[in-house]
Parts: sequence; C-alpha cells; structure tokens
Amino acid sequence: MAGTLLPSRDAALARIARVQPADYARTRNHLEGAVTGLSPYLTHGLVTLHDVLAGVLEREPLAIGHKLVFELGWREFFRHVWAHAGDDILNSLHPGPLPDSAYDPVLPQDIREARTGVPVIDQAVRTLYATGTLHNHARMWLASYVVHLRRVHWRAGADWMVAHLLDGDLASNHLSWQWVAGTGSHKPYLFDAQNVARYAPAHWHSPGTVIDQSYEALERIARGGPRPNHRARTPALTEEPPLQSAPPPDLRLHGPDLAQARHGQGRTVWLVHPWALRAPPADLPADTEVIGVYLREHHAAWPWPETRWRWVDAAMAAWAPRRWFVDAPGLAVALADAAQVRTMADPHIARYLAPFVQLDPAPTLFPPVERRCQSFSQWWTRATRGVQRAQSLL
Ligand SMILES: Cc1cc2nc3c(=O)[nH]c(=O)nc-3n(C[C@H](O)[C@H](O)[C@H](O)COP(=O)(O)OP(=O)(O)OC[C@H]3O[C@@H](n4cnc5c(N)ncnc54)[C@H](O)[C@@H]3O)c2cc1C
Repeated sequence: MAGTLLPSRDAALARIARVQPADYARTRNHLEGAVTGLSPYLTHGLVTLHDVLAGVLEREPLAIGHKLVFELGWREFFRHVWAHAGDDILNSLHPGPLPDSAYDPVLPQDIREARTGVPVIDQAVRTLYATGTLHNHARMWLASYVVHLRRVHWRAGADWMVAHLLDGDLASNHLSWQWVAGTGSHKPYLFDAQNVARYAPAHWHSPGTVIDQSYEALERIARGGPRPNHRARTPALTEEPPLQSAPPPDLRLHGPDLAQARHGQGRTVWLVHPWALRAPPADLPADTEVIGVYLREHHAAWPWPETRWRWVDAAMAAWAPRRWFVDAPGLAVALADAAQVRTMADPHIARYLAPFVQLDPAPTLFPPVERRCQSFSQWWTRATRGVQRAQSLL
C-alpha cells in the first residue's frame, strides 16, 4: 500500500475527509473493512490525533465512546505506557503464560519467508512486505501464531515486524505484541480458523491447519502443552526485503559540512525529524533555519527497508530542503553556534537530542493521565472522566 499512501500531509487530510465513522465502527475488524489507513501519517507526524478527530468532527459529532475515538485512545495509551516505562517496554512487562526462557529467541525462517503452509500467516507476511502495512486483525493473528503456536519470544517477532511496517512505532508495536503474548495483558490472545473465516477474504482461510482447533486446545498449547508438529513448505517464494541502517545513497543525505561556516549562527534552528514531519511551529523567529535530521544512532538499532526511507524522505523534503544523516555528537558540533536548537519531542530519538536541543512537548489528544495505568481500561476511565462528547477533547 506504500504506493497508494502518498507521503504528504494533503494525502493524510484527504484520508481524514473520507473517514466514515459509522462504517468504521461496524466493519473495522474485517480485513476489507472501512479502516482509515492513517497510521503511517500518525506515526511519522504528518498529522496528529487532534487533526484526525477535528477533521472527522467537522462532518458529524461523535460520542466519546465511539469506536474510532476509542482506537485513537489506544495509540495514546501506548505512548502513556512508554513515557512511564521507557526502554522497559522492550522487555516483558510482567510474566506471561510461560517464562521468557520457554520461548525461542529467533524468528524461524519459514515465517520470515511466508512458507509456514498456514494461508493466513503466509498471506499476512506477504502483505506486510509488499505494502508496509497490515490490518490490525492480521497483525494480531500473526503475532499470536508466532508466540503461542510456534513458541517464539514476542520480542523476536516485534523487532522483525516493526522494521517492515511503514507505521512502525515502538510503543504501538512492541506493546501490542506484549498484549498478544500475555506479558502486557492478563491472558494470551488466541484465534482459530473460524475467526479468520469470518473476518478475512477466502484466500486467507486456513481450514485443516494448526489454527483449526478448539480454543481449549489452543489455550493448552499456549500454556505449555506439547508444541504442534510443524512442517514448513519449501521452497521460499517470498523474499524478506533487506533492511538498511542508512538511507539509499541516491537520496544524497550526507552529514553537515563542518569545513563550511557553522549552521544557524546566532539564529534559531528547527529540526524536522522522522517522527514529526510537519510544519515548524508558528512562534519561531522569521529567520529560523530548518534542517531535516536522521540520527545514525537510532537507525543503527532500528533499520528500515528502502521503501520506508524513500517514503519518509519524500515527506521530510516538503519541510526541509536541507537534510542530514548524522550522529548526535556531529549534530551538536554543527549547531554549536546556533542561538537555540528546537524540535518536537518524540521518544524514538529524544535521548540523543536532549543534551543540546530544546524539546517541545508532543501534542496529545486526551487530557494527560499522570499516574501510570496498568491497563487500557484504567487509562481510558481516567482520560475521559466526565467527558461525554468527543468534541470536548479538542
Ligand atoms: C502486533 C501488532 C503490532 C502493531 N504495530 C503497530 C505499529 O507499529 N504502529 C502503529 O501505528 N500501530 C500498530 N498496531 C496497531 C494497529 O494495528 C494499527 O495502528 C492499525 O492497524 C493501523 O491501521 P489504520 O490506520 O487503518 O487503523 P484504524 O483502525 O483506522 O485506526 C485509526 C488510528 O487509530 C490508532 N489505532 C487503531 N487501532 C489501534 C491499536 N490497536 N493500537 C494502537 N493504535 C491504534 C492508529 O493510530 C490508527 O491509525 C499494531 C497492532 C498489533 C496487534
């Protein structure tokens, strides 16, 4: 879908204008349902949750408990957990059905190559690679199969999936995997062949495969019963797109040229980064220098496929004709003479920038919930206390 998801704010706004809340609520669990396709735009900050809700409410009012508002809440809830737990979201938040050591630490090759022989899983992997996106239900099925039926540690699956998603976001992705695994929720998420038959097109249906069992049998496996026999199909027909920790060379994203005069001398510099690809704030001085940055440290740990580099860079170019691929110490040196360096905070990269950049707080849609909530329902109750209409959030 990367091809049809044009990397611009206008494309995101056009999508927002097409959202049909009633259809969304009725069909969102279906693979062919009326979902918004907004997550790459939200992840990369071309639009905010506020933009989405404001755009939808321009056309019709919604109750606070409307399914769409609720789902926007999930994104913000995961950010809430990340803000409190930090890097701990990369480890099991609490014990799941089995100890961490019971799971394989490596994602098997047949899953990566879409040749498990379980159509729903192979279709999901192929869709992920081909489009950079995947319906929420398909993400849940894939994660559940990996963790509970193949007994692979959720972290191996989460690291792999986040790399291939155009909307890959460490909070939404890794915490969703934990929710499926049962290390971030009170029970493992399981699904059967009938569930797939109800929500997916025919070529995803998987009768007679390992998922075609009763929930009791699936639960026994998830809780440590004998692992089902598995014979992968051969040969591999699907290749995993290679991941790159640096941008494609033809994008010509070099570091700053330190032989030249320092940048932003005596002026304000605004940094555009991959998690906030939108206009700089209006309160900046008129002579502010705008520079786009990709931080080497982040991409060394979390590489992207080429398609994502190109998508993000096309969106970044709209705001920052000058863009650098640079490490944080190099950036600090290049901007040492600026009067002030500012950007939008985002936990993917804040740690690298915090020592020398002023981080504007990222906008939120829901009122802040100070106390850490252990569950979405706890957070939702607090975030929406006394609120009846979604309009009150704006
Ligand atoms: C295993 C797994 C991994 C995931 N990884 C990511 C990820 O890396 N990045 C990401 O943005 N989302 C992730 N999600 C959440 C969800 O699947 C996607 O946000 C959603 O499918 C995006 O499609 P959409 O924009 O059409 O969503 P819509 O259903 O149209 O929802 C509108 C917006 O609400 C938010 N939203 C909806 N459902 C969820 C949800 N369950 N959790 C969090 N936010 C939600 C998203 O921002 C989404 O764009 C993951 C879910 C699972 C189960």
